Formats: sequence, structure tokens, C-alpha cells
Amino acid sequence: MKNVAVLGATGSIGASALDVIARHPDRFRASVLGAHRRVEELAALCARFRPDLAIIADAALERSLREKLAAAGVPTRVASGSDALREAAAGPLCDTVVAAIVGAAGLESTLAGARAGKHVLLANKEAVVMAGALLLDALRSGGGRLVPIDSEHNAIFQCLPPEHRDLAACGVRRILLTASGGPFRGKRREELATITPQQACAHPNWVMGRKISVDSATLMNKGLEVIEAHWLFGAAPAQIDVVVHPQSIVHSMVEYADGSVLAQLGNPDMRTALAHALAWPERVDAGVAPLDMFKIGRLDFEAPDRATFRCLDLAYAALSAGGTAPTVLNAANEIAVAAFLEGTLPFLAIAEVIEETLTAVPAEPQTTLDALIYADLTARREAQRIMRRAFC
Ligand code: NDP
Repeated sequence: MKNVAVLGATGSIGASALDVIARHPDRFRASVLGAHRRVEELAALCARFRPDLAIIADAALERSLREKLAAAGVPTRVASGSDALREAAAGPLCDTVVAAIVGAAGLESTLAGARAGKHVLLANKEAVVMAGALLLDALRSGGGRLVPIDSEHNAIFQCLPPEHRDLAACGVRRILLTASGGPFRGKRREELATITPQQACAHPNWVMGRKISVDSATLMNKGLEVIEAHWLFGAAPAQIDVVVHPQSIVHSMVEYADGSVLAQLGNPDMRTALAHALAWPERVDAGVAPLDMFKIGRLDFEAPDRATFRCLDLAYAALSAGGTAPTVLNAANEIAVAAFLEGTLPFLAIAEVIEETLTAVPAEPQTTLDALIYADLTARREAQRIMRRAFC
């Protein structure tokens, strides 16, 4: 029986993880559930899954969660705050951590799980973008294993040999990261000036949280994934190519020295990656419909429009700059996307805010967690200042 901590349980990935867990009560148990503020939803999940521990990150809501669980007769213990998330990720109640908190807020619990040698199922791509080297160190020192849940990285993981510490030694030439192109694929820059949050969040193929939906619309999601692939698979930036594939059936590909290209295909449903990562190295039913190739009929591939969707190149530039540059990129993006979702920043200004923040906050060598947190806070302040001055 695997005891699973689902951190970000009330989100889109959390829901997919819990769906797979519920299908296999003989294999998996949700032993810890964590959320930020959605206390009603967390209490309802506790009533259904009866975890040992529920954590609400916003400490002001701990009492409310406690009262709701007591009223429903649910014996789950309650804790609050980011320290509790970190302690639970490293603690004895779980052997597996689904890192599904959105944004930099997920970094410390992800690192804690890795340091403690847990089986880390990584959805929280911002953590690896911010602190890739630290996360790898934590995994090495903890002796745990990371299986990516991001569908592209999960696909690459599946297309690589089981122990893939060195891409060159495995004969890998290139990683082909597929991208749906988002809801605005094919649009010209001038058509994007008046995009609303609702339009940006209406992804053609995937149902996801609001932040990653906007990231998909700007192509920053693919940029973050390029950085994620660099760290998770040891690929140089020039070895990672982005291929737009509007049907989202091929989740990514690996090209080998002999010309073979291995791809992982499936319906666009995150439960496939979650079932793979939860059961790895075995395979279990994910509840996902079989792929109907006759219905799909064709698979298309095209180059990304890098001039219109500038965030992709900003991410490549931050990866090449190294050090704290990806941390700054991620922080500026989180601030700009939040402002866009609140209706105070135009869609096209997201890339501008990120670019200006990268110029204003020079990259430092990536050393300690404190240095990264400092870079993150500095970049957030700078991005706010840039937005106040130029856009809001
Ligand atoms: P959602 O917005 O749907 O869910 C986010 C989850 O994180 C919620 O449970 C939320 O709690 C919790 N959360 C937010 N802030 C905090 C905080 N400060 N402390 C603790 N918990 C917090 O996001 P998604 O599920 O879409 O995405 C989660 C992560 O997975 C992201 O990093 C995303 O990039 C990645 N990912 C998502 C995919 C998808 O299909 N959705 C695909 C691949 C990767 P609450 O509900 O209480 O606010």
C-alpha cells in the first residue's frame, strides 16, 4: 500500500490524482491532503478520503477546517501553514508526495519530500524552474525517486531507458517537447491586444488551473517546461526543441542517434501521467478512454510562432543565462499572470513585464535556497514596480 500526500489536493492535478487513487484502494491511500484556502473543498475531500492529516496553508482557516471536520465526524487531524506542508512531505505519514501546489509556494514542500527520500511525483514545474540544482541535490541526498507528472516530461520519462542519467550515453540526440499552441495558436500579435482572462483560460484540449492555462496561452508554459526538461533529463538547451502539435495526442518525443524517434501517445487526460507515476514501474488503469486512432485521423506538427509568443524565447534566454535567471523569470511570470487574471494587466504586457524584470534583476550564481528565495522576492517586487510604472 502506498501512502500518498496530495499537496494541492483541491486543484486540477489534485483531482486527477485522487481520482486514480480512488480507483485502486488496494494499492494507494491518500494519507495527507493539503490546500491553500478552499476550506470547504478540502473538508469535503477529507470526508471522502479520510486522510490521517489535512493541511490548510492559510493558518487563519485552520479553525474553520477543524470545525467542519468535527461537525462531519471526520477523524482527520488538522494542521496549517507552509511549515506543516513541509513537515508532512518529509514525515512518516507518506511515502509518496504528489507535488501539485501551483507556483513558487510549492518549492519548499517539494524539496522536503525529495530530501526525505520520498517518491516525488512532480507537477509543480515552478519548483524545478526556480531551484533545479537544489532539487537534484535533494533527490541525490535523500535517495528518493522523482517521476514527472507534467504530461510532456512524463512522456519523455517513458521514452527514455529506465536509468537515464546521461543522455549521450543512452544515444539521445534530441528531446522534442510537444505544445498544443494554446487557445491563440495562429493568431497575430495585434489580435491578442484585448484578450480577456476568460478567453485565455479556455484551453482547446486540457482542463487545468487558471495560472497554467494562461501560461499555455502565452507559451510560457512551454518555456517553463524547456527548463524543467533541462534539469530532469540533463538536456542542454540546444537539445530541446519545441514542436506545436494541436491535437495534444503525442505528449512528447525522444530522438536517438540512429534516427529512431520514440513518442508517447494518449488522450489529453492527466490521469494517464498520474496513474503511470503512482504505479511506476507497474501499470494500472487510469480511467482514461482508449485512444481511437481512426477517430483522430491525423496528427499535425508545426513550428511555434516565437515572434508572437515571446515568452518561449525569454525562457530559453533565462535558461542559457543560468544562475538565478530562471527564478527571476518564474517570479515575474507569476506576478504578471496574477495581474492579468485580476484584469489589471493586458495579455501582451505579460512578456514585457518578464523581459524588463530579467533586465532589472541580474542573474546571480544559484547557490543556496536563501539566495533563490531572495532572488524570487526581489523579482516579485521589481515586476510589481514595472507594472505600476508602465501598465496599471
Ligand atoms: P490549480 O490552480 O487547479 O490548483 C492549485 C492547488 O495548489 C490548489 O489545491 C491550491 O489550493 C493549492 N495552492 C495554491 N497556493 C498554495 C499555497 N500558497 N500553499 C499551499 N497550497 C496552495 O492548479 P493545477 O492543478 O492546474 O496546477 C498545479 C501545478 O501542476 C502547477 O504547478 C501546474 O503548472 C502543474 N501542472 C498542471 C497541469 C494541469 O493539467 N492542471 C499539467 C501539468 C502541470 P486552493 O484550492 O485552496 O487554492
